[in-house]
Amino acid sequence: MTFPAYVPLYQWIDGHRLSGEGRQTSDVLNPFDGAVLGAMPHATAADLQAALESSERAFKVWRKVPAWERSAIIIRAAGLIRDRIEQFATMLTLEVGKPLAEARMEMSLTIDSMVWAGEEAKRIYGRTVESRLPHGRAIISREPIGPVAAFAPWNVPALLTGRKIAAALAAGCSMIIKPSEETPATCLLIAEAFADAGLPAGVLNVVLGDPAMISHTLISSPIIRKVSFTGPTPVGKQLAALATQNVTPVTMELGGHAPVIVCDDADIDAALAFSVPNKFFNAGASCIAPTRFYVQDAVYDAFVEKFTAAARAIKVGNGLESQTNMGPLANPRRLAAMESLIADAVAQGGKITTGGQRIGGEGFLYEPTVLVDVPESARIMNDEPFGPVAIISRFTEVEEAIEKANRLPFGLAAYAFTATTARANLLADSLESGMVGINTYYFGMPEAPFGGVKQSGYGSENGTEGIDAYLVTKFANYG
Ligand code: NAD
Repeated sequence: MTFPAYVPLYQWIDGHRLSGEGRQTSDVLNPFDGAVLGAMPHATAADLQAALESSERAFKVWRKVPAWERSAIIIRAAGLIRDRIEQFATMLTLEVGKPLAEARMEMSLTIDSMVWAGEEAKRIYGRTVESRLPHGRAIISREPIGPVAAFAPWNVPALLTGRKIAAALAAGCSMIIKPSEETPATCLLIAEAFADAGLPAGVLNVVLGDPAMISHTLISSPIIRKVSFTGPTPVGKQLAALATQNVTPVTMELGGHAPVIVCDDADIDAALAFSVPNKFFNAGASCIAPTRFYVQDAVYDAFVEKFTAAARAIKVGNGLESQTNMGPLANPRRLAAMESLIADAVAQGGKITTGGQRIGGEGFLYEPTVLVDVPESARIMNDEPFGPVAIISRFTEVEEAIEKANRLPFGLAAYAFTATTARANLLADSLESGMVGINTYYFGMPEAPFGGVKQSGYGSENGTEGIDAYLVTKFANYG
């Protein structure tokens, strides 16, 4: 099959496309076959300085643009993305490998998040409190925090870029965003939609290149007033430490290791019908992917058997082909991680009921995999696999499953399946997690906050909390 053309890559700074001119480049790969899609230019120190200055200038302009006008531009950009959805979906599939149907779904979620944030721009309210003086005024207002440095990952690159940009812009902030080295095109296409929608130059700048150099330069700058990062927990810790030096607030959306508790009173077929596609969505590379399944004794054998059969039936291949259910892993790092985590699980007594092998020698395809009898000491029970592997364990009492679910330092998403209200309440109350799904995996609502607790991060995206993250409070007292 011939692949569609990739888009040219450039730094997008102050309304200018910057590439070439001696800038170092690195290759962006197609994860299906490992072929080079394009050359990504790296931002130089001068590029980053230009982006910072541009962001500072543009903030002064954008913060004064009336909320209804900011809203209209954001919603117009979302509409342009909807018009161009096939181009976006194709780029997502080329860069990440995900099937086109998933790529289209990601674009719909991106558009929803942008429209919602755009609407919220009109609903940023302060309040007044009673003055202590006869004709005084005591006014509390919400103001944009300032220029934001944002860092987006490669797994869901359109959604996690689009919702950061839309929320910050809705609040009246400017933003410099760095997409992942693996997915620059999607971010540039989003920036292009904003420019076409009438966003003033410099309100949104996109920089590409060396992550450590870019994050260090931007976060250390006094121009940056807020940091938003989605990605691995170890990197989040480094960036949070860096941000502390300027007392810059951060929103951190980091790793997870989501537990799923399946009780014996649950509708097991419904639980399976939700669990298998959610597990293997995006080849398992989702921070809220269900990973550790704890299944109660009476239904354990049937659950393992049916889960295994369904995983085996998944067609893995080229995301551009309509029969493909699961694409490749997004990069060679995930392939190496899967191989080493699964080898360690097996060495510690785990059994593979299906999968466990790389497919082919080119690209990063890996079989949907199910593991059972894996001890809690195995690395895969402690380190997020971020790949297409489900680990199924048995439990007897619900309290025991809750304890196992909560034993890791992560707390992003947790799930439970039960038909009993009392158990549903116990599970929702007891799971230490920013998001809990009872009989569902669905968190794709821009109106509800998305975020974790413990080492999965702090702060939220989406919801009114997601706009609040880009605002500061001012109290003005009139004598
Ligand atoms: P990795 O350690 O190779 O990190 C790569 C990612 O982190 C890239 O996006 C890169 O740009 C960014 N990064 C690395 N160093 C950086 C720095 N100093 N400053 C700014 N950004 C930096 O991890 P990986 O193999 O790409 O991903 C694996 C892990 O990442 C997963 O286990 C998962 O926990 C986490 N992850 C989480 C999300 C999420 O949505 N929360 C998304 C993607 C990855």
